[in-house]
Amino acid sequence: MVLKGFLPELGSQLVRGILDLAFPRQALCAFCGGETPEGSVVCRACRDAIAAGYRKVCLRCGRPLRTADTESTLCIDCTAHRPFDMARAAGCYEYPLKEVIYRFKFAGDVSLSAPLGMLMSWRLLELIAASCSYPDVIVPVPLHPSRLKHRGFNQAECLALAVSREWGGIPVLKVLRRHRPTQAQKQLGRDERLCNLAGAFSVVKPRLFWGRNVLLVDDVITTGTTVEACAEVLKKAGAARVDVLAAAAVPAISAVVLRSALS
Ligand SMILES: [Zn+2]
Ligand SMILES: [Zn+2]
Repeated sequence: MVLKGFLPELGSQLVRGILDLAFPRQALCAFCGGETPEGSVVCRACRDAIAAGYRKVCLRCGRPLRTADTESTLCIDCTAHRPFDMARAAGCYEYPLKEVIYRFKFAGDVSLSAPLGMLMSWRLLELIAASCSYPDVIVPVPLHPSRLKHRGFNQAECLALAVSREWGGIPVLKVLRRHRPTQAQKQLGRDERLCNLAGAFSVVKPRLFWGRNVLLVDDVITTGTTVEACAEVLKKAGAARVDVLAAAAVPAISAVVLRSALS
């Protein structure tokens, strides 16, 4: 009786196996859902679009500079002191990363942290080469407890864990605390953002950071003021370096373009 149902099942599995060998099933891109003939997690078209949008970036904060001039190396914000050492993102905050981050962060598709973490890990290789330093620990930018309760997960922590997995388990330390819910920053200028974030973060167990190279992880670098506020408390705790890695960065105005517009 048991064999009656078992044999046809075995037969169909065999046929499926033979068909898979003859015509390998194609994987689907985690970002656009298109086929990836080469079997990678993110298809070539998505990877090419991300690479094309992240060619020329501010050497300090890693935000894309939309300028044709060859002189630009810094954005306008990075001509002043910033507490972090160097920041980079997997790509520009535009298609396809913008849509993917929206699905990850607001629609709660946390499985997207794996492919995003993979792209960030490739960028980390560049960051390590450019900074000549290797991170001792990874620290995610924290959410305020009320925001965490509402969302159910901290997107920066998911990305930090994904990057750590890709890099052989660099320790992820959840030691930053966000003391007050900061108002939405989208409409605020840089100075207002800095004011909004003043005193918003602190470090638990600061002795852990003395002389350490810290990799701070966030989902999006908008103006960089959030990572600045986090880097400031980590540096005060004695961190030797604070570098930043994000899934995406919003384009910035180049310092050269602004100077020529003013002259
Ligand atoms: Zn794709
Ligand atoms: Zn910059």
